[in-house]
Amino acid sequence: MSSLFENTLKQINEAAEIMNLDKDIITILSHPKRILQVSLPVRMDTGEIKVFEGFRVQHNDLAGPFKGGIRYHQQVDMEEVKALAAWMTMKCAVVGIPLGGGKGGIIVNPKELSKRELEQLTRRYIDRVQALIGPNKDVPAPDVNTNAQIMAWMVDEYMKLGNLNKKGVVTGKPLECGGSEGRASATSQGGVYVLDEIVAEKGIKPEETKVVIQGFGNAGSHMARLLSEKGYKICGVSDSRGGIYCEEGIDSINMIACKRDKGSVSECAEAGSKCERCTNEELIEKKCDILVLAALENQVHADNADNIKADIIIELANGPVTPEADRILNNKGVMIIPDILANAGGVTVSYFELVQNEMQYYWTEEKVQRRLKPIMVKAWQRVYEIQKKHKCTLRQAAFISAMTRLKTIMETRGFE
Ligand code: NAD
Repeated sequence: MSSLFENTLKQINEAAEIMNLDKDIITILSHPKRILQVSLPVRMDTGEIKVFEGFRVQHNDLAGPFKGGIRYHQQVDMEEVKALAAWMTMKCAVVGIPLGGGKGGIIVNPKELSKRELEQLTRRYIDRVQALIGPNKDVPAPDVNTNAQIMAWMVDEYMKLGNLNKKGVVTGKPLECGGSEGRASATSQGGVYVLDEIVAEKGIKPEETKVVIQGFGNAGSHMARLLSEKGYKICGVSDSRGGIYCEEGIDSINMIACKRDKGSVSECAEAGSKCERCTNEELIEKKCDILVLAALENQVHADNADNIKADIIIELANGPVTPEADRILNNKGVMIIPDILANAGGVTVSYFELVQNEMQYYWTEEKVQRRLKPIMVKAWQRVYEIQKKHKCTLRQAAFISAMTRLKTIMETRGFE
């Protein structure tokens, strides 16, 4: 199987061919600008020192400071972080915000660390990458297994290292530490704004629409709540420990509370009716109209793509559908709302957070939504127009949209 970064390059090349993009621009976009690898010694609760490995990849900063989350995962590797960083460049360009693409990762299973060990690991990471990050240089944020608390430790450590009044060094912070209203749900909310447009055009009725959501962390659980509020029927959800499918629907609010108490949605049959437990693999093949992928990459691949029953897939996760599966699904007529568009609400509100930190003036949730919605709707309309013009997939159209913006910047500024 090709690496995640090779998949990203395939996506870039496919779209570049359709738009007849200059070879030099493809070459620039195919290489991260800078990569940093760091060793992170942590004194464990046992008294011994353990060294973890971390990365920061800065893909492209032509549109603005590098921007992208930090992932804590036992299987994260450099190829994955390179792919995620390149997608961030594309994502920021799809929504037209003045930021570039970066991403970070630490090889660790954070569930095996105590709170003190996790804090020390986080502070050590900031110590090691501090020369490269900053509100005008590179701005990390939460990703898989990182959250507002971890961002609070990061900003605190960065300030302790002498960078006073630079709260914008990371986004996704708690409100009390300079976070933005609406950031926690922004990734899902952005996807919902795009879905609203599609639903209106296709005449889909939410109350007759069954939804399955893989991944029930930040992105997935907010999506469940937001779609329930709009009347969609959430029938299945899952997390790393397994899934649950409830034929007659799930109460999202009860599911969120139950997951908090019991640790996994698979233990929460009482949050729905007519429920059966299933594996993650089984869940995504269940009968539904919309499948939301909100966990990790490569979840839909050549071996299971044919079994997907949904008409619409929303990629809240980055890279959840492999290029082979993408082809199979597109041939079947499944509409895939690609990650670089579907989950771009998160980085858009991160941008708002950065702006608010710089101004030291904070917006209401209502103001955040008033600014997020037109950005997402415009990005969708632009992608949809490109798709119709080139008769290509939505993913190819999203890459064309992004690379058209990047091409203009490169041609205007020069890139040598
Ligand atoms: P998270 O850590 O809050 O949640 C991840 C969820 O996926 C958890 O419920 C976890 O149990 C589940 N999971 C892990 N492995 C799984 C597996 N093999 N099968 C099924 N579920 C599994 O992370 P998140 O922030 O919600 O991120 C989820 C995805 O969304 C990632 O791909 C991330 O890059 C992407 N994303 C997140 C944001 C954001 O703002 N948080 C923004 C853009 C994209």
